[in-house]
Amino acid sequence: MYYIGIDGGGTKTVAVLGTSKGHILAYRRTGATNPNRAGLDTCLARLHELLTHLKEHHPTAYAHVQSIYCGIAGGSSSSYQQAITASIRPILPEHSTITVHHDGIAALYSATLGRPGIIHISGTGSVTYALDALGNEHRLGGWGYLLGDEGSGFAIGRSAIRAALTHNERKSPLQKLILQHFSTDAIENVIPAVYQENGRDAVAKLCPYVFQAYEEGDVMAKQILMDTANGIAVQLASLMSKVHNAEDWTIVLAGGVMNQPAIVSMIKHTLSQKASSWSILTPTVPPVIGALIAAIQPYENVTKAIV
Ligand code: BGC
Repeated sequence: MYYIGIDGGGTKTVAVLGTSKGHILAYRRTGATNPNRAGLDTCLARLHELLTHLKEHHPTAYAHVQSIYCGIAGGSSSSYQQAITASIRPILPEHSTITVHHDGIAALYSATLGRPGIIHISGTGSVTYALDALGNEHRLGGWGYLLGDEGSGFAIGRSAIRAALTHNERKSPLQKLILQHFSTDAIENVIPAVYQENGRDAVAKLCPYVFQAYEEGDVMAKQILMDTANGIAVQLASLMSKVHNAEDWTIVLAGGVMNQPAIVSMIKHTLSQKASSWSILTPTVPPVIGALIAAIQPYENVTKAIV
């Protein structure tokens, strides 16, 4: 039997066609498919491009695809789910099942390989999400940069600019890095530069400087990262207390921001003061393989709850 997993984000989207044993027969990568970010038309066009490639690459396997799991950042509202399902239905084998969801499960399964757990993704956007042992889903945040995305690369970058603007009399390592990035020596020039560029990306790009400045001993950068870690730990602890789980919680930290050991250790430290019975698991396969696992192993009777 054959399956398709898709991991769609605000920057790139990856699709694989594989067997139930996890053998990958075809792979394709394209641009963003987050419909809030790329627009629904672009999202649909890119999904068609991916599926067409998989089909051309392995027509026999494609004709026998059993199920497809699309984990699309920003894609979990019912209007998007319906639009995406209706659009790809005609280009998939008739008998196949289609699931469209946000990117949480794919990222979770990239570490748990199909088992329940709690995930916090911090890439450009963010979400905190739990799938419990009964298949119930719970989610905090993940509403995009205008409405939420606490702890995300965007949020960290925005805190950096705000701190630099507020304390503009100082020339801390963080301020110097921000000024250098915008090729200016006056902090107020950063404001038009951000608004003239694509605001969200311009702000999220500053996130790495916060980690760099932190390594250089910058006090503002340290405060930003500690506040961020605290916010993430609060969200994780909140899901742990609300969602029943018979076993200890497996927590997965994923996304570019979580590649920074400094924030991971701050989160662990803060979380240990707020909750017990948890352990951190690191992703061992890419999220697209998590999406493939979700296609192979559908989690049935899932009830959705926004907490
Ligand atoms: C999106 C979510 C996504 C999160 C993490 C947010 O900006 O709205 O759907 O889960 O980023 O990628």
